Amino acid sequence: MTAKLIEGGPIAEAIKDQARRDVEALGRAPKLVGILASDNPGAKYYAKSQEKACAEVGIEYELHDLDPGSSAADLKAHIAEINADDSVTGTILLMPVPEGVDPREVQQAINPDKDVEGVHPANIGKLFYGDFSLAPCTPYAVVAMLQDAGVELKGKETVVIGHSEIVGKPTLVMLLQSVMESPTVTCCHIATRDLALHTGRAEVLIVAAGKAGLVSGDMVREGAVIIDVGINRVKVEVEGKKKTKIVGDVEFEAASEKASMITPVPGGVGLVTTAMLLKNTVECARRQA
Ligand code: NAD
Repeated sequence: MTAKLIEGGPIAEAIKDQARRDVEALGRAPKLVGILASDNPGAKYYAKSQEKACAEVGIEYELHDLDPGSSAADLKAHIAEINADDSVTGTILLMPVPEGVDPREVQQAINPDKDVEGVHPANIGKLFYGDFSLAPCTPYAVVAMLQDAGVELKGKETVVIGHSEIVGKPTLVMLLQSVMESPTVTCCHIATRDLALHTGRAEVLIVAAGKAGLVSGDMVREGAVIIDVGINRVKVEVEGKKKTKIVGDVEFEAASEKASMITPVPGGVGLVTTAMLLKNTVECARRQA
C-alpha cells in the first residue's frame, strides 16, 4: 500500500479563510499579544511566524518583549494588565519562560476568554465535556485533520504516543469524546515497555514524542492512518555537505508503504496548528464582543 497524504496546507487554508471571514464580520481587527521573556532564537522565530499568520487574516499582532530575567510575579503583573486591556483580544505566553518560573502558574493568570492557546485549566477542563471551543492548538489540529480526511474513528484501535500536557494528554481527552465517535484509545509514553506491540495494532496512530525515527515501518499496522506531530531537526549529508532537515517521529518512506494515510513533516500538523491559533483568536474576540 502507498499511503495517501493528509496535507496540512489545504486544511489550514480553509480554517484561515473562515477566520478571515469571521474577522470581517466582527468589524474590528482582533489583537493578539505575544509575551516573550527570553533570548531564545526559536521563540523569536515562532513569534515572527505568528505575526505573519495573523496578518494573513487581518488580526493585529503585538510582541511584548520582557526582560529574560522576569520573575513569575512580573509576568503575572503584565498579564493582569493585558487582561484588563479591552483592546487586547488574546495572549500567548511564549516558551521558554525564564529559568525558575513555572509556566503553568503564569498561564493560569491569563483570562480564560483571552487564552488563545487553550492552556488555561478552565479551557483544558472543558475538553472533558466535549467543548473544544478553546482547545489547545496542536491537539485541535490533530482531530481536525482526522475529521477532514474522513477517518471513521468509531471502535478503532487508536494509539497516541506521548503524554505531554500540551499535546498528548489533551489529544487523548479529545479523542475520547463522543463527538469524535469514541475510539478505543491507548496512550504510550517513555515508560511504555513494548512500543511496537501497541503501534502494531493501531488502526490510527498519533505520534508526538519528539524522537526522529521512533516509529519505523515495521512497527506500523497495514492500512493504518498516521498523524505525525513530531518536529525534529536532524543533520543530513547532501552532496558532501552537512545540512539540517526537519523530520517527524515516523520513518516516513517506510511507514508510507504500509499506512493508508499519513501526514508529512513538514507540511502537516504544524500548518494546521498555526491556523487553529487564528481560529481561537476569533473565538476569543466573539466571547468578548
Ligand atoms: P514533550 O517532550 O513534552 O513530550 C514528549 C512525550 O513523548 C512524553 O510524553 C514522553 O513520555 C514521550 N516519549 C518520549 N520518548 C519516548 C519513547 N522513546 N517512547 C515512547 N514515548 C516517548 O514534547 P511535546 O511538547 O509533547 O512535543 C512532542 C513533539 O511534537 C515534539 O517533536 C514537538 O516539537 C512536536 N510539536 C509539534 C507541534 C506542531 O505544531 N506540529 C506542536 C507542538 C509540539
